[in-house]
Amino acid sequence: MRRLKRFLGWVDRLVHSIRFRLVLWYAVILVGILAALTVFVTVVETRDVHNDVLTRLENRASLLVGRRSFGALLIPDNFVDSNEVLVVTGVDGSVLATQGTAVPQDFVLQALHVWQVQSQQSNLPLSVVALTGNLPSTHTGYYFLVAPVGDRDNIQGFAILGSPLDPGGQLRRLLLTMLAGSLLTLAIALGGGLWLADRAMRPVRTITQAAREISDTDLSRRLNMKGRDELGQLADTFDGMLARLQAAFERQRQFVADASHELRTPLTIVNLETTRALAGKRPAGEYQRALTVIRSENDFMSALVNDLLVLARMDAGQTNVELKPVDLADVAIEAVERLEGLAARNGVRVEIGDLPEAPMRGDRQYLLQMISNLVDNAIKYTTGPERRVCVETGTRERLAWVRVSDSGPGIPPEHLAHIFDRFYRADQARTRGDPENTAAPSGSGLGLSIVQWIAQAHAGQVHVTSQVGEGTTFEVTFPSAEGRAAGVETKEQGT
Ligand code: ADP
Repeated sequence: MRRLKRFLGWVDRLVHSIRFRLVLWYAVILVGILAALTVFVTVVETRDVHNDVLTRLENRASLLVGRRSFGALLIPDNFVDSNEVLVVTGVDGSVLATQGTAVPQDFVLQALHVWQVQSQQSNLPLSVVALTGNLPSTHTGYYFLVAPVGDRDNIQGFAILGSPLDPGGQLRRLLLTMLAGSLLTLAIALGGGLWLADRAMRPVRTITQAAREISDTDLSRRLNMKGRDELGQLADTFDGMLARLQAAFERQRQFVADASHELRTPLTIVNLETTRALAGKRPAGEYQRALTVIRSENDFMSALVNDLLVLARMDAGQTNVELKPVDLADVAIEAVERLEGLAARNGVRVEIGDLPEAPMRGDRQYLLQMISNLVDNAIKYTTGPERRVCVETGTRERLAWVRVSDSGPGIPPEHLAHIFDRFYRADQARTRGDPENTAAPSGSGLGLSIVQWIAQAHAGQVHVTSQVGEGTTFEVTFPSAEGRAAGVETKEQGT
């Protein structure tokens, strides 16, 4: 029972497989071709053989027609073959002589009657008349002619000549050979077709098997099929897709791990502070300090959760960037105004440099967040006696740009390539800050990732140049309104 089930399962899989359908179509087409060929060859050959038979019979008949009398009619012994028919009759239909196979008397009379009817119609009494239909059952595959003997006015009798349509069995043999050949060709073609289809489909099975074995926790498997054909390309594409999936999963995992890690520190600090404050009676100043620390950590977590939310939306493609005409200079002024408080607290002077009109198409809210992040960083990280941040905008070569520069400590070259990575902080100790000193810079390392995403969503690029000890300049370029109309993308290389 189990064997039968397994067999039925195999048949079901085979019937639904591509190779079976391929072979089936192949077989249908082949059968069609073979049938057409057989019909064509048989028809042509049958016509040729029948023509030969007719010509032979007519030649024989022409020897008899028009003879004056039976006296002059000397019929040689082997005038017809043994499977042929020759019946010599008198005018009344009485059989005078026969050669070859015999035909019934009825048929003889019927043949003469047909001759009479037809010769009257054609007005040629001495013509040879071919008989079709009403043949004796023993002679169904035969062709008969009736040839009159004697003068037009004085018919002496008749000779009825008959011959099988396929005298040597040639047509039957041809048909059998064609059938046998077709069946053999079909069998070989089917076997070969199945084998070929099976071979061709083998890489597909490998791919299916591999796909089945890959679980979402192990995306490191690759097919590594070397073929350069279509299936090799499919396998390559599959491998590429796996690599991208693996990288995406890895990023996701890292992201969750980093996010949890980032949240753990402030949560631990809040926990410590509250535990310490609740442990016993403390002076009022102590509570104030604890609450300040808790508020600072809370601010940090709010900012972090906000950034995480923005990034998650960006990753999920749920952001709706609406491109409308906007002046980058306007947005820059708004960002600076928003951060004036922070700048004052940090003792940083924010200068607004040249702000000529910089028209572009963009989403004001996102652009505002982008410039705010850059100015916020510049304010946070600027140190030293003369703390200065400069914001400028402008246009050049169909590009609109915004530049934020500071007189801060700069970013060491080894960090420069990574500052746009999520959760990356050039100096972990410094940037996380001192929770008791709210003026100390504290960041989660997400600000620049968001800046980059927003720039890219506007077909823009972020460029950064930094000199350790002197300062850092971030510049973001976008296709200007005019550039977009001309279909120009920013071509400069970002650092
Ligand atoms: P964060 O929230 O830590 O500021 P960002 O993604 O905005 O995260 O920045 C990543 C890192 O790049 C920062 O931690 C900092 O070390 C460095 N960085 C960014 N902007 C500046 C700047 N203007 N000057 C010096 N370092 C900077």
